Amino acid sequence: MDLVFATNNAHKLEEIRRIVGDGIRILSLRDIGCHDDIPETAETLEGNALQKARWVKERYGYDCFADDTGLMVDALDGAPGIYSARYAGPQCDAEANMELLLKRLEGIPDDRRTAAFHTVIALLQGDGTHIFTGSVHGRIAREKHGTNGFGYDPVFVPDETGVPFAEMSAEAKNLISHRGRATRRLIDYLASSTTNNE
Ligand code: IMP
Repeated sequence: MDLVFATNNAHKLEEIRRIVGDGIRILSLRDIGCHDDIPETAETLEGNALQKARWVKERYGYDCFADDTGLMVDALDGAPGIYSARYAGPQCDAEANMELLLKRLEGIPDDRRTAAFHTVIALLQGDGTHIFTGSVHGRIAREKHGTNGFGYDPVFVPDETGVPFAEMSAEAKNLISHRGRATRRLIDYLASSTTNNE
């Protein structure tokens, strides 16, 4: 089965291919010759995921899924949320985003630094639309630690491990991460729909 993952993020493609395994071939936007600047102008994670998936399905005709993720920090009333990629500006600089986050949380004690990553995946398959979600709860550290992963990984400490994502292996992160959880729900669905159609 071929499915387009509407992303250009090489880290995310690799993470998802690792979870999916060999049964499903995941094509990137580049693989299908899509170099569009796909708009993400909705006000929710689900709205953005649907917007990206519909863009590909309607213009390129492929079954497709798209995801959208936000880091919701409780002490900041849910910010950066849908603006996580461009928190410090349109250049989408991960270092600048983390610096801004740490600055906004200056003086906030450990027990009030709670946060969560939420992922929504929208799958458009045939005529159907399916939504899958995944979350991981944790805290924002006071300083950056580790070099693995991407985005806010050096400052996000999941409750399950007490170690920043950036100090965990890709496999260990996938087991508990927002995207890992949402993706496994997507995979379970794809596996059961394939079985039911046999
Ligand atoms: P996206 O919707 O997956 O592109 O995620 C939006 C932004 O959230 C990214 O640009 C990152 O800043 C952040 N983000 C998403 N997933 C992760 C993750 O697994 N670790 C750290 N940051 C992430």
